[in-house]
Amino acid sequence: MQDRLKRLPKVQTLLETELASQLIQTYGHEDVANAIRVRLQDARETIIANDHEPDLEAFNQSLFDDISQSLDIARASSLRRAINATGIIIHTNLGRARLAPKAIEAMTAVAADYSTLEMDVETGKRGSRHDHVEALICQLTGAEAALVVNNCAAAILTCLTALGAGKPVVASRGEMVEIGGSFRMPDVIAQSGAHLREVGTTNKTHLRDYADAIDNDTALLLKSHTSNYQVIGFTSVPSRQELAALAQQTGTHLIEDLGSGVLVDLALYGLPNEPVVRDVLAAGVDVVTFSGDKLLGGPQAGIIAGRRALIDQIKTHPIARAVRIDKLSLAALRATLDLYRAPNNPVEQIPVLQTLATSLETLRARARKLTDLIGAKQGLSLEIVATVARAGAGSLPQQDLPSLAVSVSSTSHSPDRLAKMLRQADTPVFGRISKDQLLLDMRAVVDSDITEIANAVSAISIK
Ligand SMILES: *Cc1c(COP(=O)(O)O)cnc(C)c1O
Repeated sequence: MQDRLKRLPKVQTLLETELASQLIQTYGHEDVANAIRVRLQDARETIIANDHEPDLEAFNQSLFDDISQSLDIARASSLRRAINATGIIIHTNLGRARLAPKAIEAMTAVAADYSTLEMDVETGKRGSRHDHVEALICQLTGAEAALVVNNCAAAILTCLTALGAGKPVVASRGEMVEIGGSFRMPDVIAQSGAHLREVGTTNKTHLRDYADAIDNDTALLLKSHTSNYQVIGFTSVPSRQELAALAQQTGTHLIEDLGSGVLVDLALYGLPNEPVVRDVLAAGVDVVTFSGDKLLGGPQAGIIAGRRALIDQIKTHPIARAVRIDKLSLAALRATLDLYRAPNNPVEQIPVLQTLATSLETLRARARKLTDLIGAKQGLSLEIVATVARAGAGSLPQQDLPSLAVSVSSTSHSPDRLAKMLRQADTPVFGRISKDQLLLDMRAVVDSDITEIANAVSAISIK
């Protein structure tokens, strides 16, 4: 066996070959040398395990192709474009909202060059990054003032810290929501330094429960949108108006975490009802928080809007600086908000809203195009089936959106295996498995994805 091992080429010898020097030009000496060492070690282990003659010719022949391929793969970013055929429109793990072309343009311009991020062009003096969106947010929501931070979780943490640290915050037991990941309302309140005073029960909280819990120290009443669950049956919560009046009588402030938060009444477009930020503020809520990349359809951001005195207090707190929004997201947010202003029609221009509003006829045409492009393939069967899509990310949680999917099944692969093969395509395709079928839902894909999906499905090898 020692003889056989000795017959393997040396690292140095391989590095001096013409093929190696070509690879070194592309990938650098260190990566190529390491890749050669790994291949040689594999070959040694194979010899030891099988105790047979190494096929040196085959080894040498495939060595540099293998290395080139594996270095290509290793260098490709793990963060890349993907196709969302899950039927979940705002899919947190797939990056939430697709941005409008205008938002992408604005982002690119600011990324490639210097910008007026914190510069007042009038005076040539330092400005505030909030100025680029504040007036627009106020116009669209009726708020007196606003600021934007990194995301909605940061928005809530910032509000609670700036307005409630060291003081009791009263909130309903029925609204102690966990959003997913590590966001749980009681933990966020604890982190802010405020003291949570939970009132009511899981299914019922009365106005008097809040009133009884308020004392001279109490700073805030906190209402949260139970965005990813619903308590149904024997339930009640006081209205926003009642809570706002109570806050006013007791010298406290009412904050509402809306999570998704929408700027236009989606019911006007035949879309399900979700609290509109303007209505929430008009009901007397002092400060609201909501996400930029959920139903608003913009970049990751957390918007804080409401009464000027409170917003000013939040803006100057050090935590607002620590969680401030970056210039790229700010540019994209500004451009997205612009699309909500006349003469634009947000449902025509903002991909999240477009996707919610896409008709079943369009989805059917997409599904047909996909099945046509794949065509008849031995061992693979395709069927267009009715499905239910979701808004996702805690938006419109109970709302079923009718959709259509292409179900893919094969004689030789399980649905899990098929799903995995599609995830491994150049542009990963994510479907969902339901009742032991792989479904490629047409709701959140776009027409231009269809050819790529078809190629990925066609590339599945059937034995
Ligand atoms: C999604 C959500 C959040 C968190 O928003 P991010 O922008 O992801 O930080 C907070 N509260 C509610 C009610 C939510 O639905």
